Amino acid sequence: MPEAPEVYDTIILGSGPAGLTAAIYAARSNCCPLLIRGRQPGGQLTTTTVVDNFPGFPEGVEGPELMQRMEDQARRFCTNFVEGEVTRVDLESRPFALHTEDRVYRCRTLIVATGASPKMLGLANEWELYGRGVSVCATCDGFFYKGKEVVVVGGGDTAMEEASFLSRFASRVTVVHRRATLRAAPPLQKRAMENKKIRFRWDTVVTEILADQQAGVTGVRLKHLPTAEEEEIRCDGVFIAIGHTPNTTLFKGQLKMDKEGYLVTRNHVETNIEGVFAAGDVQDPDFRQAITAAGSGCMAAMQAERYLETLNDQGE
Ligand code: NAP
Repeated sequence: MPEAPEVYDTIILGSGPAGLTAAIYAARSNCCPLLIRGRQPGGQLTTTTVVDNFPGFPEGVEGPELMQRMEDQARRFCTNFVEGEVTRVDLESRPFALHTEDRVYRCRTLIVATGASPKMLGLANEWELYGRGVSVCATCDGFFYKGKEVVVVGGGDTAMEEASFLSRFASRVTVVHRRATLRAAPPLQKRAMENKKIRFRWDTVVTEILADQQAGVTGVRLKHLPTAEEEEIRCDGVFIAIGHTPNTTLFKGQLKMDKEGYLVTRNHVETNIEGVFAAGDVQDPDFRQAITAAGSGCMAAMQAERYLETLNDQGE
């Protein structure tokens, strides 16, 4: 492995499909990019079971295995991996400066692929009970609910997938959705609706998570919106599946964002700062698929390469 340069041509933030695909492309075209893995190495796919829709895997592939394969491929082409998180960025100066807890990394181009994080309900005790009955990942925690009752909040693809997955373990799954129609894709809806262990509470929100000091979650208080009627139901776990928030706090005041905090890009991956590119869920409120994230990671790396060429032509 060549010695680490003072200034990297390309640094990539994030190690999901967008970041790792950007690394594969950047590593094949310029000298050894640096990839800073971030808070959740491998990204959201590391908390998934089978991924059935990633091309090239006709039998499906486990999320963590897919990410490991992408990482192995990026390593083969000399990507340098660093554990940890960037806590501050300076994109006004050139080269760009990225501060971690113990050092500063500098680069001529930056690819932001920091992804998105699950949204929470905003209830008083949800963080206190996180890991003690409150979860955002059925595939991580479902096993602990063998023979128990759980609630899934949300009406999208994730909620339906989580509910179906949890029904393998739980004795009963109650999906609580704030509207009377689901947002999830029809096949996922059908699978959940045909599952005898899954029941639905429509037009309903969770207003309180009930808990016991010792046991953790013991139930939820629900409110039926059209009638304002309240009800308490017993459960041992609450799985929150209500969408995601882009991980962009780090870039506030420097990179342009929409009202939800997603990075705004033109020509697919260019941010408002020349030389800074964004790829994956951090700039995509719409598709948010592993394959679309990978595609934009590829575009970001190719655009970064083109930008580096213009800098080289100018002798910078
Ligand atoms: P999503 O599509 O944004 O759905 C979020 C759900 O949570 C919606 O039903 C929404 O209700 C509800 N919700 C949002 N905020 C809420 C709140 N504060 N309280 C109660 N309910 C709330 O998110 P997602 O299901 O995580 O999916 C994200 C993206 O990933 C989508 O593009 C999806 O297609 C994709 N995805 C795909 C797959 C797959 O292909 N197998 C699997 C998972 C995810 P409303 O419907 O009323 O807005």
